[in-house]
Amino acid sequence: MRRIGLAIALIAGFVIFYLGSVTPKPAPANAQANAFSAGRAFADVQAMGLVPHPLGSPANAHVRDYLVTRMQALGLSPQVQRGFAVEVHGPLINGGQVENVIGVLPGRNRSAPALALMAHHDSVPGSPGAADDTAGVASALEIVRALKTHGTPARDVMVVITDGEELGLLGARTFFDSPLAAHVGYVINMETRGGGGKAIMFETAAQNGGDIALYRRTAVTPESNALTVFVYQHLPNDTDFTVAKQHGKVGLNYAFIGRQFDYHSPSSTPQALDIGSLQHMGQQVLPTAEALAFGPLPARAPDVVYGNVLFGLTLAYPPWAGWLILAGCAALIATGAVLARRREAFGWIDAARGIGAGLYLIALSGVALELVRRATGVASGWMEYRPLLARFPTFEVMMLAAALAALLATVVLIGRAKGRWLAAALPLVCGAVACLFGGLDILALGLGGFGAVVGAIGFGQAAEPEGAWTGLLGLMLVLAAALQVAAPTAAHVIGWPLAAACVSFAASRGGGATARDRAIQTLIAALGLAWVGYLFHALLQGLDMPLLAVLPTLLAALVLWPLASPEGLERPSLWPAGLLAAASLVIAAFLHLTSPWTPRHPNAVEPVFVIDTSTRSAWRASLVATDGWTRKLLTTDGGTISKRTFGIFDAPVDAAPAAYVDAPAPDVSRALDSAGGVTLTIRPHAGASGLLVDFTAPDAIDNISVDGQPTVEQRRGQAARAMTVKAGQQGELVWVGTDPVTIRLHTARPAQVRTSVTEIYDRWMSAKPLPPLPATEQMFSRAGSTFVSGGVQP
Ligand SMILES: [Zn+2]
Repeated sequence: MRRIGLAIALIAGFVIFYLGSVTPKPAPANAQANAFSAGRAFADVQAMGLVPHPLGSPANAHVRDYLVTRMQALGLSPQVQRGFAVEVHGPLINGGQVENVIGVLPGRNRSAPALALMAHHDSVPGSPGAADDTAGVASALEIVRALKTHGTPARDVMVVITDGEELGLLGARTFFDSPLAAHVGYVINMETRGGGGKAIMFETAAQNGGDIALYRRTAVTPESNALTVFVYQHLPNDTDFTVAKQHGKVGLNYAFIGRQFDYHSPSSTPQALDIGSLQHMGQQVLPTAEALAFGPLPARAPDVVYGNVLFGLTLAYPPWAGWLILAGCAALIATGAVLARRREAFGWIDAARGIGAGLYLIALSGVALELVRRATGVASGWMEYRPLLARFPTFEVMMLAAALAALLATVVLIGRAKGRWLAAALPLVCGAVACLFGGLDILALGLGGFGAVVGAIGFGQAAEPEGAWTGLLGLMLVLAAALQVAAPTAAHVIGWPLAAACVSFAASRGGGATARDRAIQTLIAALGLAWVGYLFHALLQGLDMPLLAVLPTLLAALVLWPLASPEGLERPSLWPAGLLAAASLVIAAFLHLTSPWTPRHPNAVEPVFVIDTSTRSAWRASLVATDGWTRKLLTTDGGTISKRTFGIFDAPVDAAPAAYVDAPAPDVSRALDSAGGVTLTIRPHAGASGLLVDFTAPDAIDNISVDGQPTVEQRRGQAARAMTVKAGQQGELVWVGTDPVTIRLHTARPAQVRTSVTEIYDRWMSAKPLPPLPATEQMFSRAGSTFVSGGVQP
């Protein structure tokens, strides 16, 4: 009976999770005029997202013109807002000339605060950006078109399509610093961080009670969870919405994050985009935008806890109500324990073993996930991780199998009369094996050691399932309470599954569950697993940190416990756990031993040509891991490959000497002034796509300005502060623009400032052209560019 329930819960849980995570069917181009149609929006994606269109490029100007034409057709009287902006990160400045395209759908009350629909029209270099953020731009246009069919809105609806988002939110900085922004009362920002998946409303401004009430009332197929707001506050990632918030604006921020392989990748083409994601973005945002355009803006109200439950239902309540949930859980746990005690199915020692089982599961699942992740042979890092992104569903199944294996093994081992040493050895062996891949893994060894100690002390005497479950529930109640104190708006991540498990615990009737009770427990387990599945999926997709998946594994154990535990005199079997572990390892071996690269998911190559006009030397270099094709290319002129440090690249790169090609040196003039300043004026050459200015001095550099604009660092949650570069440290300006640019530095001994200027061209200047690329490789980011340095080099 339990075995069947376990199988049903696992299968039904997966099916419910899967059905909840697939994107909706795109509405066709001839859908009703008042509805959002991805079919219509996709025509814009195809027009703007075919080729890379980074800031300052001719393709970017083409997209700008297309937007002007489209907004004219929509009656939005568009204007192109030109300006320049800089962004500071430590010693690095990103800056450039941007062209935002802004249109207005006039409302009945022109002076009422406007609703702004925001997205960005630039892509990163090398990526067509059909998703990031052409999908957001196309959504905004289609939403305005649909809004118009509802009549004249009460307030103006502004369509703010920014430029230079990818280089440092530059267009948004220009817009929100301008008088135009004063008119904005509410912002809806649409972004993407991948090429598929459901669009998530993942960020709000502070005091979001009114925003969430509006969102819950209006959003169709809502996808949102207060946890993402909390997590996002602690990640370094930014979108244009960050700038809006810094300027005191409020609103909602949306993005989809599936198909991560395509994020900032040449493979982000219209064909690769999940059109269902576009549909989900638009159909979710449109009714909310309509309510904002035709009705009042939401009032500011205290933050709430909110999230999707299942089947499109979104709950919201004030953070203190989390305590009520936990109090209810405590009451249910106590009741169940009393019932079990009457049946003599509960002993304190079993409860203690249940706490041990929880701790053991943390260690065993952590070390197992770490082991299989490492066994794929794929290193961590933004580029290194791509082989796994190329086969993400397979990778995810591997992680799921490992987590479930650890879960079932824990439940079985704690219920066994023997097996203490097996329990102790298992995590330790996993930790040791993890070290065979990619070197010493202190974390895995530490977790393995911890698991071994818990296994040796707590395992080896059969614990009654009810008693052990009580202990596990109690442990999670303590963790939930800790989270309720530390992060009340995120505490439901444990609180909700715990509440479901406590209801299931009550249904156990202290060990006297009937067939009907087991059916209820199976249902709760299926629903709980579906919900936990979202968390597991989101964590794996968002961050390459296998240990994060320990949390959903623990939460799954809460609801699976009664179904996974041995029944009566049944000898608990380790076979299911063993099979899952074996499956997980087989998948890891498959991922390790076979090539991930296909024409749909090609390997990234990034060869660049480097010319130094002052020494009349040239190199071919590879900015990512060098493969066979690139190796051949680098050695075209017979030079040998070695690691070489160029000031313009973050780390040493593979490079080989190349035949010199004459190129114009950067046009730089340098002037010292009596106030201790040194000013560089650079006139970009026609055809250059951007430039890099590196500078260093024996003393600290301060009062740095670009085109007269001071450089100020604005970190989230911190006061703005003027940029400084420490003595001996290298500062850098990355600049995209066609007009001359000046940078002024101030330091104690200005004559000793060392500077180096490099111009970037989006073409391969070597006399020998790039050889044809196999279908399983793609030119990534700056691939095929030429970096020309020289000019003033003191
Ligand atoms: Zn973006």
